[in-house]
Amino acid sequence: ITIAVLAERAMGESRVAATPETVRKLAGLGARLVVESGAGKGAGISDEDYHAAGAVIASADVAAGAQIVLGVQGPDPALLASAASGAWVVASLDPFGQRGRVDAYAAAGLEALAMEFMPRITRAQSMDILSSQANLAGYKAVLVAANLYGRAFPMMMTAAGTVSAAKVFVMGVGVAGLQAIATARRLGAQVSATDVRSATKEQIQSLGAKPIFVENVAGIEGEGAGGYATEMSPEYQKAQAELVSSHIAKQDIVITTALIPGRAAPRLITDAQIATMRPGSVIYDLAVAQGGNVEGSLPDQVVERHGVKIVGYANTPALLPADASALFSRNLFNFLSAFWDKEQGRPVLDEEIGNAIRLTQGGQVVHERLKG
Ligand code: NAD
Repeated sequence: ITIAVLAERAMGESRVAATPETVRKLAGLGARLVVESGAGKGAGISDEDYHAAGAVIASADVAAGAQIVLGVQGPDPALLASAASGAWVVASLDPFGQRGRVDAYAAAGLEALAMEFMPRITRAQSMDILSSQANLAGYKAVLVAANLYGRAFPMMMTAAGTVSAAKVFVMGVGVAGLQAIATARRLGAQVSATDVRSATKEQIQSLGAKPIFVENVAGIEGEGAGGYATEMSPEYQKAQAELVSSHIAKQDIVITTALIPGRAAPRLITDAQIATMRPGSVIYDLAVAQGGNVEGSLPDQVVERHGVKIVGYANTPALLPADASALFSRNLFNFLSAFWDKEQGRPVLDEEIGNAIRLTQGGQVVHERLKG
């Protein structure tokens, strides 16, 4: 079997879908690896590194004859014209944002597998690209915010006087939010956090941060299928807005991470609330690519409103290309190796995971969430 690794073409995408480590491991399973020249450049990996790990380096028609094509983001279907018939395209495919591309994969007879649809079940944890990338994003968001902030994070007592600790508020305590809390705490900030899932209260406390929660409102339990958030009642949203308003005016840094699967990100901060913050404060909107938690945030821009900087990098994991690539690549390797069929010399999916991630097959769009 031939596995091709393409260089990423999207603007600002510095990651790569395989590292020398995973190339070696995939070769160990019996695969032949073809890596596009320059694919690892953004992550500090040279063609020689891939070659030494056992890959063939190609400059043109990289997917020729490949039965599996790996990407971070979905590759342009035009690059896959000479792939084997029914070849797998394994990447983060953004099927709602890139529906036209999914249709093109179907028309080309490719089997597109969206890694971000991996079910959140125990045996698939090591294949979960959303978690591995969100964790790094939560960390980096705090560092970027700290850099843009004109003051220090930790309290410092000096001969020239005392510098007070920064107040950091994390909204949305999933994988990214937990890492943001931990990172801000390590830097010495005073941290508080909120979520709609009450199970996060204990997690916030265990990291040494203060939970800020709406109490005594109908529809309070915001936990739905698979441990994800659900959309909240109007009463809850109103109570949450009031609570946030009084709290946010006292914060220096706000990191927002709130997502609801299959929907636009919930709006958590309005322009009027931003106006109550102290000038020089920084907001980092990690949900900007899903529509944003913060009014006025824009993808890949730092916007200033009322003296407050609003950061909206759409691809925060790409700011840590080496680690993000290493973890993403391991997620892909763990996925392929878990399903490796020794007799066929290639992976064969089971029904549970296959149905969850398969978007196209046999010339059709087959995923439930994309039909109709
Ligand atoms: P996510 O990226 O979908 O959302 C981020 C956070 O935003 C979530 O905690 C969510 O509850 C919160 N949120 C949504 N609406 C909000 C609102 N209006 N106000 C405040 N917060 C809001 O979440 P995630 O990081 O992918 O994690 C979701 C859950 O899945 C967590 O419980 C996580 O531990 C769990 N998880 C399980 C596995 C596994 O078992 N394989 C893997 C990863 C994550």
